[in-house]
Order: sequence, then structure tokens, then C-alpha cells
Amino acid sequence: MTSKLEFARFPAPDGVNGWWESLPPPSPANTVSSGHRYDWVVVGGGITGLCAARRLAELAPDATIALVEADRIGRTTAGRNSGFFVDLPHDISSESYSRSVEADKADVRFQRHGIDYVRSAVKRYSIDCDWRDDGKFHASVNRKGHAALTHFAEGLARIGEGFEWLDEAAIARVTGTDFYQGALFTPGCSTVQPAALMRGLAATLPENVKIFELSAVKGIEDLRQGKVLSFDGGKIVAKRVILCTNAYAATFGGHPNGLLPVYTFASMTRVMNPEEVARLGGTPSWALIPADPMGSTVRRLMTDRICVRNHFAFRPSLELSQADLAKAKSMHQRSFDRRFPMLKDVELEYTWGGPLCLSANNGALFGRRDDGVFQAIGCNGLGLSRGSASGKLIAEYALGQSDELIRQLLNQPHPRSLPVRPIADVAVSAAIWMKEFSAGAEL
Ligand SMILES: Cc1cc2nc3c(=O)[nH]c(=O)nc-3n(C[C@H](O)[C@H](O)[C@H](O)COP(=O)(O)OP(=O)(O)OC[C@H]3O[C@@H](n4cnc5c(N)ncnc54)[C@H](O)[C@@H]3O)c2cc1C
Repeated sequence: MTSKLEFARFPAPDGVNGWWESLPPPSPANTVSSGHRYDWVVVGGGITGLCAARRLAELAPDATIALVEADRIGRTTAGRNSGFFVDLPHDISSESYSRSVEADKADVRFQRHGIDYVRSAVKRYSIDCDWRDDGKFHASVNRKGHAALTHFAEGLARIGEGFEWLDEAAIARVTGTDFYQGALFTPGCSTVQPAALMRGLAATLPENVKIFELSAVKGIEDLRQGKVLSFDGGKIVAKRVILCTNAYAATFGGHPNGLLPVYTFASMTRVMNPEEVARLGGTPSWALIPADPMGSTVRRLMTDRICVRNHFAFRPSLELSQADLAKAKSMHQRSFDRRFPMLKDVELEYTWGGPLCLSANNGALFGRRDDGVFQAIGCNGLGLSRGSASGKLIAEYALGQSDELIRQLLNQPHPRSLPVRPIADVAVSAAIWMKEFSAGAEL
């Protein structure tokens, strides 16, 4: 490693994650103390780091592996999303999620690889996370949305993926609301309770993985004894390191590197009572994505709660203010009221945000970063399936394996650098604002 790698930003409280709050209290965290040596240290206990640690341990059962997480596993972004493991093209910077045929096919292969890997762990260890292979609905609220869905459907047909159209009455029978004008059902998406999944994946890691939580790595130095990782609680030494810190990598060394920490936000209602559930109607569990990527994602959960996600905000400081959360909550309330006028008394109990790691050109960082340091960073908005796959594949790559998917990841573009701040801040925020404005009724 040519220089010391310094971590400049760390996970901060970003509202109250409803998924995490719905779980039983966690067992006490095991924090880092000095004097330990490991063959491998994986930094970041999101979905990417959890899959990287699992795969390393499977392939190298005699290796000593540490997984270090700054917060609690399941409480940060990987455990605070909408829980869609999306298999199909999902470019949120496009107006209809699709790209070219070749790029779409490559995305599907890659994303299914990740979904299959996690699903197999969920089944094998009976992880209690409400894993569902029930597909998703892409719903539209007006002609513009319908046109976007038609474009998306054409893209799916071009790559040989199945789908089914639902008219207004059919999607209303699913959701209980007559808000949507139609929908496209795609069967391959899986959904989960994300905080439960992350906790379950951590709890079922092979025995040669030691987990440290509430243990933020402050810096990594290449010294005679190996890679020395420093924490507030001490130092540990590793032969090799895998970085899976997603948006937090945008501030390594304080220099812009093309990674864009863009927050998105969600709110979850309280549990509805039986009378409210009857008033809503529809089916007890469904997962819906808006026709316009900047619109509102909505899930009805088996726990009789509803979860709404919308709104994006570029926050290079990796911190949210109370005003950010208040704005998101008011946008969620408006979206909820428009969709569910029959549920006027059902309050939003929790509101939170979390950073995605986007880039202007859909680039990501995968592979060897430096001598003995590997990285899988940059989910571009679809970290559950892509993070699962890139976490698994970075472990295989770091152990010397190679295959078509690994080559695909190695060949993807690096994040394109943007103009220096504050020009970049203005440009990114303006682009988000315009896209949100154009999403209009889909919000
Ligand atoms: C509201 C919301 C809804 C979303 N919905 C979906 C969805 O439905 N489907 C989907 O695919 N994606 C969704 N996403 C995005 C998804 O959550 C991310 O893409 C995913 O979490 C990326 O996984 P990751 O493991 O790469 O990164 P992260 O989940 O960000 O994990 C990185 C981890 O590194 C840790 N870390 C950072 N710095 C340090 C350090 N110095 N030391 C130790 N640990 C450190 C962090 O605490 C964090 O736990 C959503 C996100 C949000 C916020």
C-alpha cells in the first residue's frame, strides 16, 4: 500500500430505522480490542461485506477472518432499505430503468447471481427474514408512467424476460387502492425484511469469521507486520483487507473520487388494526415500484404495516439534518395520503434515510486497490442484489479465482470524477431536483 488510507466520514444517526426497531433487541456488540491478527479483515458489515466474509470463509475454511462494522449490522443502509432484491435491469438514472440489450443482460446475470447466493444461505440456515419470491409490480399513475412501463416492457421482451400486464382493476385488487392506472408484474424479484436478513446473515457466518461491531476503522497503514487497522479501541493487523464501505468510501483521504453519496428516505406506518386492514382491502403482502425511478416505492408488509420510500438528496458530508428528515417525512405523508385515503388515521411511525453510492456513469470500484487491499464499492442504487454478487465475487477474486462475472466487474468503468465542489454539489442537486420534479404524480 503506497500510503495510509484514512477514513474521513462514519455512519451517523440518520433517523430511526423501522425495520431494525421491529426486531428484538440485539445481543451486546463485540467491539475491537488490540492485539489480534487475522488473515483477512473485511471492512463494512452491509450486504457486500457480509457476502464477502461468508464467501472467504467458505473457500478458505482455515483462514482467520474478521468482519468489522462501524455501527450495528442491520441498522445501517443494508438493513434500512425497501428490501427489494431486484433481478431485472434497474438503472435509476434512466427514465425507464433499461439500458442497452447487452448491458441489461449482463445486469440480470450479475444480479441473479447475488440473489441466488443469499437465497441459498437464507434457506440453508432458515434465516427468519420474511424472504419472499413473490415478484414485484411496476405501477403507473398516468399516461406518462404507462409510456415508461411500455418502454420497460419492450426492453424486457428484447432480453427475453417475462412479465404480465395488470389493468387498473387488477392492480387495485392487489393494493386495495385505486390510485394506480395499471402495472407490469415481473416475477423474479425477491423481497425481505432487510434488518432481519443482515442480522441473520451475520449470525450464520462460518465459525472462522469473527464479527466486531461499533468498531469504525479510522485508518489502514501498511507496516512491517502487515496492514494495521486503527480503531478508537486499539489496532488489529491483517494480511489482507477487503473494503466494502460503499458510500463512506467517497471520502477516503478527503479527495473526490467520483462516488456520490446520495441519500434516499423511507417511512413505515404503525401496525394497522384489523378494522383498518379490512378498510384497505387488497392482498396482505405486495411490493411495488414506481414507473418513474424518482417516484414512490411502496410495500405492504405481512406485519400489517406499509413502507413508503421516495426522495433523494446529495449529501457529500454523509450526514442528514433534522430538516432533511422532516422534509422526507412530509413527502412520505403526502404520498401515503394520496394512495391510501381510507387510512387517514394511520400514522407514519418511523422515518429514516440512508446513503446510496451512485456515480455519474454507473461506475463502481471492484478488484485490487493496492497491494493486499481489495474493494467492492459502489452499488448504484441496487445494493441488495448487486452488493450480494460483488461481495461474493470480490472474495473469489481476492483468492485468485476468475470467471466471466468477475471479468465483467473488472471491466466496468470506474466512477467518473465530477467538477470540484461546490460546482459538483450544485450540479448533482439540480439534476436530482429536476428528475423529482419530472416524476410529478408518481411521487
Ligand atoms: C431507504 C432506502 C431504500 C432502498 N431500497 C433498496 C431496495 O429496495 N433494493 C436495493 O437493492 N437497494 C436499496 N437501497 C440501497 C441499498 O440499501 C444499498 O445499495 C446497500 O445497502 C449497499 O450495500 P453495501 O453493503 O455495499 O453498503 P452499505 O449497506 O452502505 O454498508 C456499508 C457498511 O460499511 C460500514 N462502514 C462504513 N465506514 C466504515 C468504517 N470506517 N469502519 C467500519 N465500517 C464502516 C457502514 O456502517 C455500513 O454498514 C435502498 C437504500 C435506502 C436508504
